Amino acid sequence: MKTNNFDESQQNTVPMLKDGLPRQAFAIVEDPEFPSTWHLPHHTPQIMQSILGHCSPESTVDWALMGKAIVMLSRPCIDGHCITSDKYLLLEATRHLLNHYHTAHRPIPNALRICLIMFGLER
Ligand SMILES: [Zn+2]
Repeated sequence: MKTNNFDESQQNTVPMLKDGLPRQAFAIVEDPEFPSTWHLPHHTPQIMQSILGHCSPESTVDWALMGKAIVMLSRPCIDGHCITSDKYLLLEATRHLLNHYHTAHRPIPNALRICLIMFGLER
């Protein structure tokens, strides 16, 4: 039930951020309402411009962060602490990151190949 449309639209226009980045900059978003559940950042803050339609999301990929994201994805649980227990999210994150490499015509790093095998996308 809508009781106050103004407040609702205000909420939707103020993006939540984690480390200065909106959820679109993360490969894993367990819950859009809780930035603490967003993992594997791999875009620059320029992704805000992409969300507004001013540039392509591909132009906002941060390849240094991408390397870290892939290493984390290839070792999703370390010392009993897991990025997420949701295998579907890990699979989707692998697909998402792989798409960036395909679009940029970059060679697929070995750590990402391991993710493809681990999450059943490749044998
Ligand atoms: Zn991305």
